[in-house]
Amino acid sequence: MTTIIIEGVLFAALVVAVGTLFYLVLIAFTPVGVRLRQTKNRRRIDRAAALVCPIHGPRESNDLVRLASGEVLCPDCYKETLNG
Ligand SMILES: [Zn+2]
Repeated sequence: MTTIIIEGVLFAALVVAVGTLFYLVLIAFTPVGVRLRQTKNRRRIDRAAALVCPIHGPRESNDLVRLASGEVLCPDCYKETLNG
């Protein structure tokens, strides 16, 4: 009984290891990996650009104000809008 359990666990580990190796080879050596990295770069730059207020400069994501419409605003712009 113990042998069967150990064999099952080892088979599952083998499947996971082969899958991980396949994924790593796919990411590192194929155009798919390049495409995924480029998409990741675009998302990172878009996120960084969304944190920069054109008037007040870069902000931390924790400082931003989310409006009821779902739009995110820098806190200084929100104060200026609120106070007129
Ligand atoms: Zn601002």
